[in-house]
Amino acid sequence: MIPPAFDYVRPHTVEEAVRALADGGEDAKVLAGGQSLLPLMRLRMAFPQLLVDTGRIPGLRGSRMEGDTLVVGAMTTHHGVLHDALVRRHAGLLAAATATVADPAVRHRGTLGGSLAHADPAADLPAVILALEGELVAVGPRGRRTIPAREFFTDYLETALAPDELLVEVRLPSTDGWGFHYEKFQRVAQAYAIVGVAALVRRDNGSIAEARVGLTNMGSTPLRAPAAEEALAGAGDAAAVKRAAGEAAEGTRPSRDTSASPEYRAHLARVLTGRAVLAAAGMG
Ligand code: FAD
Repeated sequence: MIPPAFDYVRPHTVEEAVRALADGGEDAKVLAGGQSLLPLMRLRMAFPQLLVDTGRIPGLRGSRMEGDTLVVGAMTTHHGVLHDALVRRHAGLLAAATATVADPAVRHRGTLGGSLAHADPAADLPAVILALEGELVAVGPRGRRTIPAREFFTDYLETALAPDELLVEVRLPSTDGWGFHYEKFQRVAQAYAIVGVAALVRRDNGSIAEARVGLTNMGSTPLRAPAAEEALAGAGDAAAVKRAAGEAAEGTRPSRDTSASPEYRAHLARVLTGRAVLAAAGMG
């Protein structure tokens, strides 16, 4: 299908992009990899009058360390994330989950920032950034601000970003040395998750000292599973992990669609949390 007509600009700096977004008001949208926005436009579910293509702005791709914090540019493609040595070392969970996103064609175009700004609760990376306790850095006409991931995802396809703000980077405290695993349940290969679980585990003398669990597609936003996380602390064997994973759906409100009922999603969250944490803790 053909999208509705729109204007198009391709700024060369962050400042130019922000100015274009501010001038375009509510009718302007950032175009990153276009892997979510363009299908929505073709389906006539999104009608931006102006696309601000951020693909040629230097400095928004790749990664660097700032002390113990890994900084990843928002325009880094999924393929770039997957093959980035710093990401693999300091945010292995992000690399593992990115490997499950779509197919190579989508991964070569789609970006980390685009996935987070789009805020689809069925997307894999938002729950991962929550579990990694990341921060998102946005630049707008009022300057630069840092938004903790837990405050970023506000509702279904909604974020704390203002329409004239550009997400420029994602900051992730290093989890080098933590165990990690992303468990995704999907109907067919290379599809969105029916439910996904991101697990991060810090071990101490064979037991779990601290666990973080991020949930994909268990509500209108990505979620953490605080009851399961609390119950997992101190778990020393597979039986204890599975018992604690039984708390994973506490407080969630999963949706019903053609793939699954809320009850089935809750069941999946419990089972997949057990599997993900066991794998992350090396107890599987
Ligand atoms: P775009 O489509 O360009 O933009 C998406 C939205 O974010 C737009 O509203 C745009 O204005 C906004 N935006 C983008 N960048 C910024 C920025 N820097 N600052 C502010 N706003 C911004 N994802 C998964 O997680 N798992 C999957 O299994 C999966 N499967 C897919 C299968 C197919 C066939 C396709 C087409 C997509 C799939 N995706 C999946 C989505 C994919 O990961 C997209 O790349 C991602 O959701 C959007 O990234 P993008 O760079 O293409 O963003």
